[in-house]
This record gives sequence, structure tokens and C-alpha cells, in this order.
Amino acid sequence: MPVSSDPGSDSDAAGDLPVNELFYSLQGEGKLAGVPTVFIRTSGCNLRCWYCDSYHTSWEPTHAAMDVDGVLDDVRSHGDADHVVLTGGEPMMHEASVHLLERLDDAGYHVTVETNGTIYRDAPIDLASISPKLQNSTPTADRDPKGEGEWAERHEDRRIDTDALADLVETYDFQLKFVVTEASDMPEVNDLVARIREVADAPVRDDDVLLMPEGATRKRLNETRERVAELAMDHGYRYTPRLHVDLWNDAPET
Ligand code: SF4
Repeated sequence: MPVSSDPGSDSDAAGDLPVNELFYSLQGEGKLAGVPTVFIRTSGCNLRCWYCDSYHTSWEPTHAAMDVDGVLDDVRSHGDADHVVLTGGEPMMHEASVHLLERLDDAGYHVTVETNGTIYRDAPIDLASISPKLQNSTPTADRDPKGEGEWAERHEDRRIDTDALADLVETYDFQLKFVVTEASDMPEVNDLVARIREVADAPVRDDDVLLMPEGATRKRLNETRERVAELAMDHGYRYTPRLHVDLWNDAPET
């Protein structure tokens, strides 16, 4: 299939979606961990987390432009799954995501949208999996995978939008998922949860707040998971595993 490296060039303009990969697996994270799911991974992101585990949707975006009918046909070809995850990249960047979500809803799928929480769109979403990015995500010069440091300031300016977070929390069933590395991340998590509770006209329960260990490989998860599990217990939040990493390490299409 034709592959482009510019998610804006031939996708939204034509009403198509830039799709990096579409595959069947188990949901690895969050409240629905373990559920068989078709994943639609869009390309393009408005952030650049240094640890991004979908590098080819952010730092070096690649995709095929697919129309919504084509995406639906591919989803249906995966047979028994009732669950679909629309992920990225940042899927809410694309107007065509709304059209796709409407079609998936009409077809009766339960749909989770995985978003970084900086963009709100009105669409039929069964679970908004919102992952606000902490300071530990910023691609400072020493952590930038491209070694250029040119995204640090833009990323820092964009990574938290409390209005968008409030809209998402008020509109959808949601989970707030934080990628945590160290205990030193927790004051920022607590502060952000408090800010969202202040601005959102909807309850945010402690078990809506998920701590997920940083690590896209088994080796790295071995270093972070126990620490993050203990932090979840200390703070009364929920721990989420990364089942797909436990099962398949960093294999693509998992
Ligand atoms: S927000 Fe998500 S997709 Fe975008 S750079 Fe960060 S981890 Fe990657």
C-alpha cells in the first residue's frame, strides 16, 4: 500500500485517515486490559514524547491514507472482536477520526480512543483513555531520539490543556492514564488530578486514575513496574500493566 511520511498531505484533505497499522491483539493497558481488540493506529502527533513507543506515528510518521470504508472492512475482517481501539499518534488530530467513530458506533463496536488529552472532539466514544503527558516526557536535548532538541519547547507548551481535559472528562467514560518512572513524578500527577477535579464538572475517582510503568521493552519494565505498583498503592490510584509488553516484548502489531 502507498506509504507517505506526511500525515497532513494526503489524508484529512481527502477525508481519509493516515493509518500506520491496523491489527488484532489484546488490549494491553487500562480498565479493559486483556480484551481481544482491533487496533487502528493513526499516524501524526502534536507532541513528541522522548519515550514514544510508536515512533513511526510521531518522530517519523509513516502511514497509508485509507478511506473510512476501507478501515471498516479491515476491522470486520478480524472477525470476532467487539472492541476497537483508535490510537496513535494522536487520533483526535484528524477530522476523519470523527467520521470513523460514527461508523464504528453504527456498526455496534465498543470503541476506546487513546488520546494525549490535548484535543477534544465531539464523537461517539465509549471509553476515552486519556494520557496526559508529564514533564518526564519532554524530549530534552539529552533524551531526544533524533538528538536535535528542537521539539522540547513546543512539546512543553502543548502537553497539558486543562480545558480539553475537562471537556473529555465531562463528556465520556474515561480513564486518566499516567506513564510513571519515578516517585518524583507523583507530585505532578497529584497536582494535575487536583487541577482536573477543580475545572471539570464531573467526578474523577481515584480508581479512574491509572499509573502505568514507563517501558516499551520487558527489560525496561522489569526496572519500573514494581516501583510504580508500590506508588499506586501508596497513593490509592490504580496500577495498570502493559500486558502486550509482558507477552510480546516490543514486537510490532501487538
Ligand atoms: S503523545 Fe503518545 S503518540 Fe504522541 S509522542 Fe507522546 S507517546 Fe507518542
